[in-house]
Amino acid sequence: MTVNKAEQRQGYDAELEGCAPQTLAVRSGQQRTDVHEHCEPIFTTSSYVFRTAAEAAAVFSGEQPGNVYSRYTNPTVAAFEQRMAALEGGEAAVATASGMAAILSVCMAHLNQGDHVICSRSVFGTTTTVFSKYMPKMGVEVSFVDLVDPQSWEAAIRPNTRMLFLETPSNPLSELADLKQLSQLAHTNNALLVVDNCFCTPVLQQPLKLGADIVVHSATKYIDGQGRCVGGVAIGSAEHMKELTLFMRACGPSLSPFNAWILLKGIETLPLRIKAHCENAGELAQWLQQQPGISKVHYCGLEDHPQHQLAKQQQNGFGGVLAFEVEGGQEAAWRFIDSTRLVSITANLGDARTTITHPASTTHCRLSDEDKQKAGIVPGLIRVAVGLEDISDLKKDLVRGLAGL
Ligand SMILES: *Cc1c(COP(=O)(O)O)cnc(C)c1O
Repeated sequence: MTVNKAEQRQGYDAELEGCAPQTLAVRSGQQRTDVHEHCEPIFTTSSYVFRTAAEAAAVFSGEQPGNVYSRYTNPTVAAFEQRMAALEGGEAAVATASGMAAILSVCMAHLNQGDHVICSRSVFGTTTTVFSKYMPKMGVEVSFVDLVDPQSWEAAIRPNTRMLFLETPSNPLSELADLKQLSQLAHTNNALLVVDNCFCTPVLQQPLKLGADIVVHSATKYIDGQGRCVGGVAIGSAEHMKELTLFMRACGPSLSPFNAWILLKGIETLPLRIKAHCENAGELAQWLQQQPGISKVHYCGLEDHPQHQLAKQQQNGFGGVLAFEVEGGQEAAWRFIDSTRLVSITANLGDARTTITHPASTTHCRLSDEDKQKAGIVPGLIRVAVGLEDISDLKKDLVRGLAGL
């Protein structure tokens, strides 16, 4: 790819130093070609050509920068990686085919046989599968701990602990962990702190600035924001991303250029969308608290949430996901869900469209009744990932749900 050096005023990253997220979201990572395109092109090519055999040799050996093959590098994917690195405040990023591929790649790059991982019990269900089924197969030991209890993290530390992994706030109960505190615990024990920042996105929380070593995302959620594709990314120091890049190149869970382009376009509206998601969710949470038939609302933006102060310190907003409990258990929860007409009944989240789901029988259905109870996934719990519809239309739809109780 030829970069037009004559047009240096075109959003090169040096000019973006110190710019706000809104600016980074639309300007970072773009390198124009000599076509002078305004929008980023999609480079749908599997490989790249060289002018001479000597040039091919120089690029293959790494002496000269350049693209070789799209499993290794692709300009559209690189633009997405740079934009995510800029937003998270990391030196580098590695894009992956999905959020799960990002999590697996981080593990494969940074864990060895005989290592030990401490993982929050309140992580995405498939993440639990990676840590409970696949990591032990690689000879990695895993302990699961209570997200909100610092003592349980500390007590789980072993001499071979090399990674602490968590999501904050958690899904669906909106519980938090103190990232600064956990990063100290990780670093005094020579371990990495890895944070799945899918729920907050860099707009609301930048874990690297709070001491995390690596941030991972399911870009499928808010980064795309419109339910169009699956993708993932990991962000961190150049050193930490180097091992990850090597894993990606050798094992191949790379992101397609087309999906990278969709995600690039998604990021451009991310700050605006997140603000709107937060406003709608905040208003719905307060409104739900006042409705008859609802016994509890879980949202870290509510003043009576036990970790509301931490949420205010650690985040720039409270996110778009809330949960609430209806009286009458699963039957009532299902009646509530089935009585809505506007919101989508799906376990997806981070979409422009509001989604509603019953965690106990969907996202958390594989937990035993006892584990559900321990995790707070009670039968009457309903999760809403609040979208961008008008708030009064959303309330009207949830009134239908309440009428069904
Ligand atoms: C969806 C999700 C994932 C998995 O991402 P995929 O893109 O579906 O592979 C990981 N973590 C969280 C918090 C998620 O919501």
